[in-house]
Order: sequence, then structure tokens, then C-alpha cells
Amino acid sequence: MKRLNEKIALITGSARGIGFAIAKAFGSEGATPILIDIQQEMIDSAIDELQTAGIKAYGYEADVVNTEKIAAIMKEIVKEHHRIDILVNNAGITRDNLILRMKEEEWARVIDINLKGTFICTQKASRYMLKQKEGSIINIASVIGITGNAGQANYAASKGGVIALTKSAAKEFASRNIRVNAVAPGFIKTEMTAFLPEEVVTKYQESIPLNRLGSVDDVANLCVFLASEEACYITGQTVNVDGGLIM
Ligand code: NAP
Repeated sequence: MKRLNEKIALITGSARGIGFAIAKAFGSEGATPILIDIQQEMIDSAIDELQTAGIKAYGYEADVVNTEKIAAIMKEIVKEHHRIDILVNNAGITRDNLILRMKEEEWARVIDINLKGTFICTQKASRYMLKQKEGSIINIASVIGITGNAGQANYAASKGGVIALTKSAAKEFASRNIRVNAVAPGFIKTEMTAFLPEEVVTKYQESIPLNRLGSVDDVANLCVFLASEEACYITGQTVNVDGGLIM
């Protein structure tokens, strides 16, 4: 028996990177992944790749901070598939700068997409989950939201906010059997970290007890567990997947 059989799973920012790996892992466990991302071309190629792997998936182009569009997409999904079992708020960006040099737009865009986008998608999906009296929401945070990081005040604040939002939502929704958890990845090999110079990567790697950068599958495997029945007594938690970087 597959662990997510017949579940309808919505994953934001899933045309590539961690979100795509989550969509693929969910699909392999019997779920129907529904992708939301901002570039239609990227969504199309992600869906092709999933279909090649034998996974039936659907995609919608939207910015997670476009409230009306997100609400319309959720409505459409429920019309087509009758429910939303799992929501993964994964879409996220960085705009790194030191506080003294940080432009207000850099602050605002990161807080908007990473934190407000998570709020909007949670609000719109939970409407249906509350009626179903069942659901699992997974918010992709970051270890930086726990430790902070020089040059990433906006990103750290957004991810710290995601962790606090996770706990509040877990408390609000628990009586309706909706679990809300956060996943805090450390350094994971994706486009987001690909721009880092070799020597910086080596330095990071040396600080990781398990002595390697994480893979997208390391994060996806945890998400499968949190979304599944095996995690039915876990809510409001932030689980790090970071090779022991912070403990
Ligand atoms: P990624 O490779 O940059 O992928 C993110 C995806 O989200 C991209 O397809 C991106 O589209 C899309 N996206 C960006 N803004 C969006 C918006 N407003 N609405 C909808 N989709 C949007 O990133 P990743 O490394 O897989 O990271 C995924 C999540 O994990 C993020 O929340 C990130 O903060 C978190 N995380 C990553 C790491 C890491 O080491 N990689 C560590 C800790 C936490 P475009 O490519 O077109 O912009």
C-alpha cells in the first residue's frame, strides 16, 4: 500500500528544485501532485518529466501572493478533484544584502513571497480542509529562520515568521484534524545554492556534521512522512533536515 494513495497534493514553487522533488516523491507514493509556479514553460516541462516517470500531475501558473488567482485555483482544484488533502508551501526566494545596504524592495519581496504567500495559500486551502475535517499542511522554512544569518535579515525574518505561522495554524486547525508542520532545510543542492562559489560550499560542508550538502530527496522524504498517516500525532513542529548543522 502506497503511503499517500489517492491524496490530492498541492505544492507551490514546484516546477523545479525542492518543490519538484516533493511533487515527484508524493506522486511515487500514490498522490496526485498539483503544481503551482510562476512560469508556465517550467510547469509544462516539470509535468512532462513527472508523466515520463508514470505520475499523473496537473499544473497552474500563479504568483503565490496573487490572492484572487490562488483562491480561483483552489476552487478549480476542488471542482475537479473534490478535495485538497495536502498543501506544501514551498515557493521561496532570496534577495541577500547586508542590513545597511538592503533596499526596501529586497526586504518587501522576500517577506511577501516567503511569508505572505504561505499565509495566503494556507488561508485559501484551509477553507476546504476545514470542511473535509482532514488535511496536512507543510511549510518549507529554513534553518536560517532559527539561527539568523548575516546578509539574510529579510530571508531569516520571513522563515522565522513561517515557523511562528506554522505553530499558530497548528493550534487553530487541530480540532478539525488538520496538521501543520514546518520543515527547515539546511544547505540543499538546488538552483538557489548553485551560485555559491566552490570555496564557500567547501566551508559550509566542513561545518555540517554529516559532511555533505543535502539533496532535494532528503527534504522530499521528510515531507512524505509528515504528509502521511504515519505522522498523524505530529503537529506544530519544525523538523530540521540539515545533516546536523544546527542542534
Ligand atoms: P528554487 O530552486 O529557486 O525553486 C523555487 C521555485 O519557486 C522556482 O520554480 C521559482 O520560480 C518558484 N517561485 C518563486 N517565486 C514564486 C512565486 N512568487 N510564486 C510561485 N512560485 C514561485 O528554490 P529551492 O532551493 O528549491 O527552495 C525551495 C524552498 O526551500 C524555498 O522556500 C527555500 O527558501 C527553501 N530552502 C531552500 C534551501 C536550499 O538550500 N536550497 C535551504 C533552506 C530552505 P522561478 O525559478 O521562476 O523564480
